[in-house]
Amino acid sequence: MRLVLIGPPGAGKGTQAAILSERLGVPHISTGDLFRDHVTRRTPLGMDAQRYLNTGELVPDHVTSGMVRERLARPDARNGFLLDGFPRTVPQARELTTMLAAVDTTLDAVLEFTAPEEVVVARLLKRGRPDDTEDVIRHRQNVYLRQTAPLMTHYSDILLTVHATGTVEDITARAMAQLSDVARGAA
Ligand code: AMP
Repeated sequence: MRLVLIGPPGAGKGTQAAILSERLGVPHISTGDLFRDHVTRRTPLGMDAQRYLNTGELVPDHVTSGMVRERLARPDARNGFLLDGFPRTVPQARELTTMLAAVDTTLDAVLEFTAPEEVVVARLLKRGRPDDTEDVIRHRQNVYLRQTAPLMTHYSDILLTVHATGTVEDITARAMAQLSDVARGAA
């Protein structure tokens, strides 16, 4: 299965992506994790990306798409993947379509995780990552609304919405229920 997970920072995408990737047997590809790994290893890409991560701005599309293109070319992603945090802009979505078309495939579904702003902000403040200060959190929410929310229209044909409130188990069950329809359709 080829899936994309979208949702505001704090919707629990990363947590759900890890669980779903295990259940579905496809690799979990998080662009945030890939960037943080580059930053830790002090690669040129990491040095370049760090200031964007620190402020909650998006890393420029060409850098992000190039990194994803490389990751998707690895053999473990050939038969499916779960993209967490990419695409985050309409140009990134177009890039992804082109990458998949080159190997004659398309996305099966886009899962949108939704939760009220006070719920996501409370989760982020509890998580305590370096970019989880109140100012940066607020900025990341604005970036999401401005740059990522337009993707819901872009993907309206394959969009599945999951209400991301309640326990981790509740949310996983809702996501799996949505996906079972896709799996039936694909079979
Ligand atoms: P995340 O772990 O998904 O919350 O991402 C953390 C940070 O990595 C974001 O605030 C951005 O600076 C950067 N980032 C992650 N994914 C993308 C993307 N698809 N496009 C641009 N920047 C990204």
